Amino acid sequence: MSLTKRILLAMVLGLLVGGMVNVASTEGWLGATFGHWLDQFMVNGLFDAVGRIFVASLKLLVVPLVFVSLVCGTSSLGDNSRMGVMAGKTIALYLMTTAIAISLALMMGSLIRPGDGIDLAVASNFTAKAAPSLKDVVVNIFPSNPIQAMADGNMLQVIVFSLLMGLAVSKSGEAGRRITSFFEDMNEVIMKMVTILMNFAPYGVFCLLAKLFAGLGISVIMDLALYFFTVVFVLLLHGLGVYTLIFRLFTGLSPVMFLQKLRAVMVFAFSTSSSGATMPVTLRTVEKRLGVDNRVASFTVPLGATINMDGTAIMQGVATAFIAQAYNIDLGLNGYMLVVLTATLASIGTAGVPGVGLIMLTMVLDQVGLPVEGIGLIIGVDRLLDMMRTVVNVTGDSMVSSVVGNSEGMLDKDVFNDKDAGLADMEDDTDAVKA
Ligand code: ASP
Repeated sequence: MSLTKRILLAMVLGLLVGGMVNVASTEGWLGATFGHWLDQFMVNGLFDAVGRIFVASLKLLVVPLVFVSLVCGTSSLGDNSRMGVMAGKTIALYLMTTAIAISLALMMGSLIRPGDGIDLAVASNFTAKAAPSLKDVVVNIFPSNPIQAMADGNMLQVIVFSLLMGLAVSKSGEAGRRITSFFEDMNEVIMKMVTILMNFAPYGVFCLLAKLFAGLGISVIMDLALYFFTVVFVLLLHGLGVYTLIFRLFTGLSPVMFLQKLRAVMVFAFSTSSSGATMPVTLRTVEKRLGVDNRVASFTVPLGATINMDGTAIMQGVATAFIAQAYNIDLGLNGYMLVVLTATLASIGTAGVPGVGLIMLTMVLDQVGLPVEGIGLIIGVDRLLDMMRTVVNVTGDSMVSSVVGNSEGMLDKDVFNDKDAGLADMEDDTDAVKA
């Protein structure tokens, strides 16, 4: 079986096993001793440990990968005027798709009206953490200590430092060329690490999902069904509709092929709920499977994993409409425009880790004068929605990377159209790992 199929199978099995454990233990079918054993040693023991090791091993790769790959990309871009154009296009597209996402979410939220007649008393306690101000977000992009930035995993700062380093390398003549070849070799090696770790993904994905669904009470969805399904509907509309349209329009390539090649990335995003942790896999897939040149992908993918959060913006849009309806507050057109603006900007400050979307939602609610406690109403279903919106987040990163790559003449169409591209070296490693 191919690696992608095994990862998909692991996802389904993880969901089933987790769901079964959940139902069996809530119904009391397991008996005290076996139930305790299952909970103690399997769900919160083995599954939890393997899942956490899997996420840690992905995160481990992020900083070295972004640094090495981006220095490589920028230094070989040479003509740095292209860098400016490419960066401009990338950021514009990221912001544009986010603004579309949130507008769509607000529109659907106002049409479906999931918040009408909600009983405010059911709100669980939610104490808001302070969201950073926009000024802080901007100032924080610039590092004062590159090692600190890497140690903290502050992606935007690492990106800025890597760009500067790449630029300097490209301008340093012979010395620069020596450094470039070192970075190129390092890039190969780190990509190989991504490939090796991907072979453990089926076990990691299974354990993460089994653990998560064993503890996730699906029944909470029922109380918030309309909100939940409105978010899911807009996520699907954006992921399958808007992205496919933009992709087709700008590249003329097959959106079906695009989505098919992203399957593994989507499962990673779904099971880790983190675009940051998924980033190594996204970058590998965008380069080796979709054919986007390293010079584009090394910039667009890490940047996207940090600032582009369309799925998160969709949750925030529907949540804002929902909370406004629940509290019977009319936002008016101005209010909605303000939400589009703040949520788009908030998505830049939303780090790609589980659950931060909710924290940034406080910033949006604050801006339009909605009660932040309203978040307590939706928090029950947020874990599951987080998984789904992260899938949209990483799909958006890959879509924009391909569009920018194509417009810069840096997307290899032969690689894109070859359905097996980038698979061969992965399967070799499977044998190596097995051996
Ligand atoms: N989990 C999301 C991501 O990493 C962010 C969020 O919406 O909380 O992309």
